[in-house]
Amino acid sequence: MTPPVAVVHPAGSDEVEVPDGLDLLRRGGDLVARLEAERSSGRVVGLVPTMGALHAGHRALISRAASECDVTVVTVFVNPLQFGDAGDLATYPRTLATDLAVARAAGASVVFAPEVVEMYPSYPEPPATSVSVAGISDRWEGAWRPGHFDGVATVVAKLFALAGRCRAYFGEKDYQQLAVVRRLASDLSFPVEVVSCPIVREPDGLALSSRNVRLGPDERQAATALWRGLEAGARALAKGERRPESVAAAVSDEVEREPLAQLEYAALVRADDLEPAATVDGGPLRLLVAARVGSVRLIDNVDPQDEDLVRCCRRHDDGASHERPVATGPQGKGGV
Ligand code: AMP
Repeated sequence: MTPPVAVVHPAGSDEVEVPDGLDLLRRGGDLVARLEAERSSGRVVGLVPTMGALHAGHRALISRAASECDVTVVTVFVNPLQFGDAGDLATYPRTLATDLAVARAAGASVVFAPEVVEMYPSYPEPPATSVSVAGISDRWEGAWRPGHFDGVATVVAKLFALAGRCRAYFGEKDYQQLAVVRRLASDLSFPVEVVSCPIVREPDGLALSSRNVRLGPDERQAATALWRGLEAGARALAKGERRPESVAAAVSDEVEREPLAQLEYAALVRADDLEPAATVDGGPLRLLVAARVGSVRLIDNVDPQDEDLVRCCRRHDDGASHERPVATGPQGKGGV
């Protein structure tokens, strides 16, 4: 299926101040040449694809890449192919000047920030070639945002082709996207090692997202319903609930208690292929949730059997002050 193409004028970002020690590249060919030169000097390349408006979640990915690789490239590109909604694309925050400073401070030495026509010369006509990862793209985000993952897979394939051999860092915040990207890298034999990084959260549990800046004060408060829902699901599981649909219902009940939130889906899935879990004993699980708060669409997820999360839910049940793990995920216990 051809992804829908929403149209927006490119950000007027020609004149930005580039911090010392950082190179800003605008052309795909310059990125190819730079990274080939780095590799031929024996350096390992780390790639952090983003849409900009960098926050502490992105910073964690960049710092991790910088600690594990010799040269870290952050890509900043608001990819129109993955937006079905032109309003969402038009209002997506664009903060390139700040992003350059954040990327440099976190350890990046290259930022690749192409204009839309550099990536898609036929824009606003979609490119003739698009990448579609069947199966894993179909449910959840794929069902609520038709064409979204085709847009993601197409841009990630282009970035992988430009970057060449590298380690690429993706956040578990976009858990289904991570699964799509892993599958894409494997099926198309990109010489890319996909590395997943835990979700970074605000102190009250809200997962950091570039879209959070669009929440009004009441909506910001209401947005914590997603995290509370995920905790409720994990708590139900920890207390012995065996029916996957009841675990998911614990999440939806909590989100639906919040008047400003409109639930889209809550699901307990198998962590590897994101198919609905038929049982809670069949291997690693993931608990997914998506909701709208006002006009802002938010997604979140947890490993509901993560030891820190379960311990935190138990303490909460025992009446202890609410304390949550700052990052959730198999790798880790990172900080905000
Ligand atoms: P985005 O700019 O939203 O496309 O995100 C770029 C990368 O940052 C993706 O791999 C996201 O999963 C990751 N990311 C976004 N928010 C967070 C977060 N709160 N914690 C960890 N990773 C994140």
